[in-house]
Amino acid sequence: MSNRIAFIGLGHMGGPMAANLVTAGHTVIGYDLVPAALDEARANGITVAESAAAAVADAEIVITMLPSGRHVLGAYQGDGATAGLIASAGPHTLFLECSTIDVSDARAARDLLVAAGHRGLDAPVSGGVGGATAGTLTFMVGADPADFESALPVLQIMGGKIVHCGESGAGQAAKVCNNMILGISMIAVSEAFVLAEKLGLSHQALFDVASAASGQCWALTTNCPVPGPVPTSPANRDYQPGFAGALMAKDLGLAVNALEATGVAAELAPLAAQIYRRFADADGGGRDFSGIITEIRANSEHT
Ligand code: NAD
Repeated sequence: MSNRIAFIGLGHMGGPMAANLVTAGHTVIGYDLVPAALDEARANGITVAESAAAAVADAEIVITMLPSGRHVLGAYQGDGATAGLIASAGPHTLFLECSTIDVSDARAARDLLVAAGHRGLDAPVSGGVGGATAGTLTFMVGADPADFESALPVLQIMGGKIVHCGESGAGQAAKVCNNMILGISMIAVSEAFVLAEKLGLSHQALFDVASAASGQCWALTTNCPVPGPVPTSPANRDYQPGFAGALMAKDLGLAVNALEATGVAAELAPLAAQIYRRFADADGGGRDFSGIITEIRANSEHT
């Protein structure tokens, strides 16, 4: 079935996701603040609207892929000068919020939708620009079962794996917990490789042992922070992302917000958040987050 889908936020992720919906036969009306994103969208068969409000006016489904919760809630509610998406959409519209945002913002966004008679779910993704382009993203979904079923055909066009994690906010909760593991484990793997260097142990030897032992994890066996053992890892191409340090810093910031909101006595995640923030603010923002190893090496004593 062909739907009329509004797509708000046509950046690195939203652009290719929207293009895949067009390829699958849907009518996609897009909007972004940046003219270059709109030009690319036009080239991919997306109908560009004059405003976000105009994009959603006749849409059955509204997808947002925006930088942060502030942007999502702002777009949903509008400001004095511009109408928000919630007020501009027709009755009972289905909103798919795919950005990575705070769990509390995701729940607030859904409450606003429901209060206005719409339906909404949080559906953040992992898989990066490569997954967005290939249509193989993993979607982590927080939704009522009925809303999940309604969204599934559209999510399946953009994604390879769709996981219903629970009610509203559960998708963002899964994303923040997963990336907390990822960020901390990459630091652990990187510190171990730098220690191995100091101890005269080769990268390959540590990899051969740890990848078949209890140190095994994705940060080691897929995104290995040193060149050599895993030829496809970003370390082999001077840490070109991959998953950019700026995004890891952002996601660990969301983890810290969630830890504070829930009172969890976590010590590693707040420290990891500081480490990635420092890395991103120096020269790591546009590099793969596994480049954190270069920081650890640079800060180590030369013995
Ligand atoms: P991006 O900055 O490339 O795209 C965001 C787009 O939103 C920009 O083009 C911006 O102009 C637009 N925008 C901002 N406010 C707007 C508004 N009010 N109306 C219309 N457009 C507006 O970011 P991205 O890399 O596409 O990431 C989008 C989201 O996906 C983020 O929440 C990010 O954390 C998440 N994410 C990104 C990746 C990745 O690898 N890039 C992976 C997983 C999740």
